[in-house]
Amino acid sequence: MANESNRSFVLKGVESTAFEERKIPEIGAHDVLVEVKKTGICGSDIHYLAHGRIGDFVVKEPMVLGHESAGIVVATGSLVKDLKVGAKVALEPGRSCTRCESCKSGRYQLCPDMIFAATPPYDGTLARYYSLPADLAYELPANMSLEEGALMEPLSVGIHSVSTLGQFHSNQSIAVFGAGPVGLLCMAVARALGAKRVIGIDIVKERLAFATSYAATDVFLPPKPEEGENKIDYSRRVTDLLAKGLDIEQRGPKAIDLVIDASGAEACIRMGIYLVKYGGTHIQVGMGSPEIVLPITTLIAKELRVLGSFRYGPGDYNLAISLVAQGKIDVKSLITHEYPFEKADEAFATTRAGKGADGKGVIKAVINGPK
Ligand SMILES: [Zn+2]
Ligand SMILES: [Zn+2]
Repeated sequence: MANESNRSFVLKGVESTAFEERKIPEIGAHDVLVEVKKTGICGSDIHYLAHGRIGDFVVKEPMVLGHESAGIVVATGSLVKDLKVGAKVALEPGRSCTRCESCKSGRYQLCPDMIFAATPPYDGTLARYYSLPADLAYELPANMSLEEGALMEPLSVGIHSVSTLGQFHSNQSIAVFGAGPVGLLCMAVARALGAKRVIGIDIVKERLAFATSYAATDVFLPPKPEEGENKIDYSRRVTDLLAKGLDIEQRGPKAIDLVIDASGAEACIRMGIYLVKYGGTHIQVGMGSPEIVLPITTLIAKELRVLGSFRYGPGDYNLAISLVAQGKIDVKSLITHEYPFEKADEAFATTRAGKGADGKGVIKAVINGPK
């Protein structure tokens, strides 16, 4: 090993982080040890830092942060066949049990015994070394960088939502609520799969401007609620404005086949149900209010497929890497900020503020190293 210390960026408690020298992880016969080179910061990392929990996942012991990483293989277990030392890999950061009903039915993301990086109590990837089963380390083609590799994690979330669950295909139309990293990547996936229209909806003008330059064919900025307007009337009014403004119908070639909600906002979820075509699909990937009011009668009358989307499953990483390698999805332009490992705190502060010290809006901040 080039370096004997395993420098790690550790969440000690709410609003408290530290660098620690941890033990280099042991590897089993089917594992590889990866020297982590690039790690993207995600909303969930920020959430643990700010609140110490996400729903039932509570940080009780110090935990290494980070789960969007790529690196170089530095050691392989005795039974690893497909990877060699020196390989550039994107890390899929969730190790499932392989034995339960979910794993065996091909939905390992639902495994009750999932060991997921930076989801308590499991350590994340913001360390010099991270070990994982070789089948979760995806070798990157020669024309892909480690930076792009780190973005395969959030891109796989988009693949899972739009392609695997949404079954989106060429000549269809999609509406995506929320133009943060996941929403943008959902738009990019739809575009790569041959979308006729990609409509981006967000309440932040700058985000829509980026979406237009990136993957959206049309964008919409919802107006604010009027004084005293109830939330259901508001959702209906905005859906009408959106449909009229962008010439969207409920059936036929002008209809929306697939809605992705990447916002988690109650109003958007309702609008998605109103907007999507008869027999269409609504995928919920954004996490927001845990309980909301939904137009169930509309859902029945339109016979909608409404599905939750959680992380990613079999095949999602492969398709993500393939679409980037083919030049059909650009993930590089989402990286707005880069920091050395020693400045991990600054990378988190920037992501949290939504803006860097340079005044530039953040889409994705990436941490290099440690060296
Ligand atoms: Zn993430
Ligand atoms: Zn399992």
